[in-house]
Amino acid sequence: MGKPTGFMEHQRLSEAYEPTTARLKHYREFIATLNDEQAALQGSRCMDCGIPFCNTGCPVNNIIPDWNDLVYRGNWEQALAVLHSTNNFPDFTGRICPAPCEEACTLNINTDPVGIKSIEHAIVDKGWQMGWIVPQPALVKTGKRVAIIGSGPAGLAAAQQLARVGHDVTVFEKNDKPGGLLTFGIPDFKLDKALVARRVKQMEAEGVTFRTKVVVGSKELPAGIGSDASEFIAAEQICSEFDAVILAAGSEVPRELPIPGRELKGTYPALQFLIPQNKAVGGGKPNPISAKGKHVIVIGGGDTGSDCVGTSYRHGAASVTQFELLPQPPQQENKELTWPYWPLKLRTSSSHLEGDTQRLFAIATKELIGENGVLKSLKTVDLEWAGGKMSEIAGSEKMVAADLVLLAMGFVNPVGALLDAFGVAKDARGNARASTDGEGCYATSAPKVFAAGDTRRGQSLVVWAIREGRQCAREVDNFLMGSTTLPR
Ligand SMILES: Cc1cc2nc3c(=O)[nH]c(=O)nc-3n(C[C@H](O)[C@H](O)[C@H](O)COP(=O)(O)OP(=O)(O)OC[C@H]3O[C@@H](n4cnc5c(N)ncnc54)[C@H](O)[C@@H]3O)c2cc1C
Ligand code: SF4
Repeated sequence: MGKPTGFMEHQRLSEAYEPTTARLKHYREFIATLNDEQAALQGSRCMDCGIPFCNTGCPVNNIIPDWNDLVYRGNWEQALAVLHSTNNFPDFTGRICPAPCEEACTLNINTDPVGIKSIEHAIVDKGWQMGWIVPQPALVKTGKRVAIIGSGPAGLAAAQQLARVGHDVTVFEKNDKPGGLLTFGIPDFKLDKALVARRVKQMEAEGVTFRTKVVVGSKELPAGIGSDASEFIAAEQICSEFDAVILAAGSEVPRELPIPGRELKGTYPALQFLIPQNKAVGGGKPNPISAKGKHVIVIGGGDTGSDCVGTSYRHGAASVTQFELLPQPPQQENKELTWPYWPLKLRTSSSHLEGDTQRLFAIATKELIGENGVLKSLKTVDLEWAGGKMSEIAGSEKMVAADLVLLAMGFVNPVGALLDAFGVAKDARGNARASTDGEGCYATSAPKVFAAGDTRRGQSLVVWAIREGRQCAREVDNFLMGSTTLPR
């Protein structure tokens, strides 16, 4: 603990955002990293708690008090080493993690928590600027071959860990670029794709092979799932050519809205809007779905919905309204009841503040109404929630003008046919069944096939995917070698 009185002397300083009018003109990141002095002062607010709740609140168990102290003392290179010891990609989480560590921070009980995420962001950006982040190829190769299906954060983390202990790792990806939802889903204004490409380059130098445009296991993909694949490889071939397989294929099946009018032109699953946008920003053809001048309704209140809001504003939408089935949560949580856990409270993203976003809670969509096959409006009904059950309020039906409806109600499970192709048993929710603790964790019911990330846990967060990728890599290394030096 660098400065025992830091938390009493210094206020939390949040990272600065580019003004809305300026940032709506482009798709680039708009958050300014703290400078060295600011990060040091923020680091000095850390109390180096006897029990650092931030560390257990963080899914990758980042050793937060140590790097707070190192940044305060100006020892950035060591701070980066501590950060990387638990997290392969702090450049992603330092930008897009919802930071459960900050909710768990002891300071958060009665004042503003330590700005942990902004310090992480500053450390890793400095690491790249200073040239401290370099490939770490294995000194000795094992001769063992591992196939990873899917190149999202879970697949990337597993691949990096396994390559660094000498295995020959091949990552198969059906899209034309690696990165999973980091590349095709999360907008560029939240995460610059050059950052993902930079990590892929680092991993290639560590010996990882990326095979893009290859779909594995099943060619048939349910509606609404993106694919650029021009090649198919059967599960049997993968299993015969590799010593171990990791399924890290995400949870891609979108939740549907089975109501009259769903087929109308103007109604799309969110990723059908977001993926082409990222491709357009990356130099591809223009997004075929435009929100310009339109009354946009986003159905679903999570991260995906928020990304649709920000993208719609950048297109020049006439209005953006977001519907959520659940009632509006409180503005402020009761910390005595919730700390150090992730509290239920109203979360307002930077995208919500980029325009006059109407956020409607406890509302359901009954019908989509169009003319000549084109969406014009929708019919809603207000909901009442009691004892965890919802019911419609009679007489509360309304018509709302809508030119574009984006369905962002989440994802139900991974593609079942992929799991079937590998003979992997599913849990009750349709995810790959595998435990996370004890002997044989991350192993599925199929011999030598493991699962990690959203494929195993269901739709989640980047930081959980990284954790699962790392832990799964450890189990795979142990399975291949009989012992492992990889951390859990
Ligand atoms: C729009 C959106 C915004 C989000 N924003 C955030 C955020 O701000 N912060 C956050 O923490 N989380 C966010 N999330 C959640 C987060 O992106 C996911 O939890 C995380 O990416 C899951 O990682 P993964 O590696 O398990 O899977 P994914 O990232 O989904 O990657 C899986 C990859 O596998 C590939 N694949 C699938 N099947 C096959 C096959 N048969 N053959 C070959 N390749 C295949 C897919 O093409 C995909 O590239 C967001 C999600 C969405 C949809
Ligand atoms: S809980 Fe907060 S104050 Fe305590 S060690 Fe973690 S970051 Fe520092």
